Parts: sequence; structure tokens; C-alpha cells
Amino acid sequence: MSKPRVIVLGSGPAGLTAALYLSRANLEPHVLEGMQPGGQLTITTDVDNFPGFPEGIMGPELMERMKAQCERFGATFSFDEITEADLSQRPFTLKTSTGETLHADALIIATGASARWLGLDNEKRLQGRGVSSCATCDGFFFQGVPLVVVGGGDSAMEEATFLTKFASKVSVVHRRDSLRASKIMQDRALKNDKIEFIWNSEVIDVLGDEKVSGVRLRDTQTGEESDLPVAGLFLAIGHIPNTAPFLPALEADDNGYLLTAADSTRTNIEGVFAAGDVQDHVYRQAITAAGSGCMAALEAERWLESLED
Ligand code: NAP
Repeated sequence: MSKPRVIVLGSGPAGLTAALYLSRANLEPHVLEGMQPGGQLTITTDVDNFPGFPEGIMGPELMERMKAQCERFGATFSFDEITEADLSQRPFTLKTSTGETLHADALIIATGASARWLGLDNEKRLQGRGVSSCATCDGFFFQGVPLVVVGGGDSAMEEATFLTKFASKVSVVHRRDSLRASKIMQDRALKNDKIEFIWNSEVIDVLGDEKVSGVRLRDTQTGEESDLPVAGLFLAIGHIPNTAPFLPALEADDNGYLLTAADSTRTNIEGVFAAGDVQDHVYRQAITAAGSGCMAALEAERWLESLED
């Protein structure tokens, strides 16, 4: 019997930890890295809460190190992503964006989640021309100009604080009057003189022809509308799981997060495991993603052994 094949989809902390454990079990995993190799940590700056780095580590460096560790034990990688998955029979059949067809006896889905957008027509039209979901990627281009960040979570606080390095002023627009962000992140932003908070407000339109010149706001309590002149709009309103190719074959919750068995990474299809942000909307940390990637690898290994028996 030829060696069973395990494929890992995604190369964030969950996918790479799964690949590390699988490769150390001599299962020679292949990793489809996705269109953002390294995942969300590659668009983060300092990571201060990943154990083992007392001085902190930059997100991209952490991911490069994880990948190098997998390669040391024989994991292989390709810069590709899944467009279609036939999970109705084994081996599973996967079609990729480069036109390849792959087969796997076990699958670990660690495709993570992507930035959520407001869904406004002008937001889409002006993406890359002042509208962004990544301050660390695009902040540098906004020197000495006013910016707006939408959201009230840790990402919004982090992005707003980071953007004050470049912007003349950063307005945080939040739809409620209290923040979801952790206390330490809130305090850092609230203490920053360059950040102002616009409470109980939502962005209802993005203004500008060739590039962003402002946003239209609506007060959620009075309904009053006003225009705020800014050169850039940064969205930090959470994420949507990257599960489209696997639905409806795999069971998911109302928001598209894959459902796994209690205390397990097993999905409703035997041999398919899900790890990291694609199935976790509660913790969403690099370390919890890595932990579930480890669980998925161990469960996949046992599953493959059971096939051989
Ligand atoms: P989040 O915690 O889900 O916060 C999303 C924010 O966007 C919320 O304040 C939410 O408002 C708002 N929002 C959602 N949809 C909206 C819409 N359509 N219009 C306007 N506002 C909308 O997401 P996150 O900030 O990206 O954080 C995700 C996870 O990553 C969290 O676990 C967080 O702790 C973690 N994280 C950690 C760090 C760090 O430790 N350095 C940095 C970034 C993120 P409501 O509050 O009203 O729901």
C-alpha cells in the first residue's frame, strides 16, 4: 500500500504546527500555503504574547521560523489555494487555483479567516486607493494626513495606535459607546493624543473620486449624518472564516466557522480535520491556533494508522 497522503491547507500557526507534527511523524505532509503565506501574523508587527520570546518577535519572522522548522523535517510547500474540494469519497480530491488536482487520504483545514468589509460600493471601488484592512501594510503611504479606523476591538486599537506613526490624526469610529478591546490595548489608544474616538457612529459611505477624500458617518442614536474629511479608511471589524470550498459538505455554524467535535478537531467527515481560526471564533490567538494545529496532526496521524489496520 502506498503511503497515505495528508495535505494541510493553510500556513498560519495552525497549519504550520500541524505540518511540523506530521512531518516529525514521517507523514511527509504537503502544505498549500494559500494566497497569504504565513497567514494573518504576516501583517502584524510585534507579537508579545507568543510564549518563548521574552523580547517579543515580529509576526513575519515568527512565521518564517515556523516554516523553516517544518522544512527541517521534510514538509513540502506550494503557493496555491483550494478552489474546489470533493470530500464525498476517499481519497479526497482537491482542485487548486493553479489548475492542479490533488488527492489526500487525510486533510487538515487551517485556512484561517479574512478581513471583514463593511460592504459599501465605494469601499470596494476605492480599495487600494485609500481603503485598506491592513495598517501595517499600507500605513506608511499616509504621511501627515488624517485617517479613520473603524472598529472597537483589539485590532482597531492596534491599527489606530500604529497609524499615529504616520498620520496627522486618527479618528476611531465605533458603533457603540464602549470598546470590545482588552484593557491594555484600550488604554494605549485612549492615552494617545493623536487618536480621537467617535462613538455611536457608523461609516455609511466612502467619499472620493480617484482616492479617498472622506467618509460619511451616521450617528446610530440620532440618525444624524456628517462628513469627515480623511485620506484613508482602515477597517478593523473582525474576520470571516475561509471555508467557501468546503461548504456545504462540512458542517459550519451560521457565520461559516467549521464545526468540530467536542475537544477535537474532527469535522463531520472522517479524515477531515479543522484547526485554527477557520473553526475558532472565540480565542483566535496564534498560540491557540498552534495548539489546535497540533491536535489536528495527532488526530490525523491516528486516523491514517486506523486506515492501515
Ligand atoms: P473583534 O474583537 O471581533 O472586534 C471587531 C470590532 O468591529 C467590534 O468592536 C465590533 O463592534 C466591530 N464591528 C464588527 N462588525 C462591524 C460592522 N459591520 N460595522 C461596524 N463595526 C463592526 O475583532 P478584532 O479586533 O479583529 O480581534 C479579533 C481577535 O484577535 C480578538 O480575539 C483579539 O483579542 C485578537 N487580537 C489580539 C491582538 C493583540 O493581542 N495584540 C491584536 C489584534 C487582535 P461591536 O464591539 O459592537 O461588536
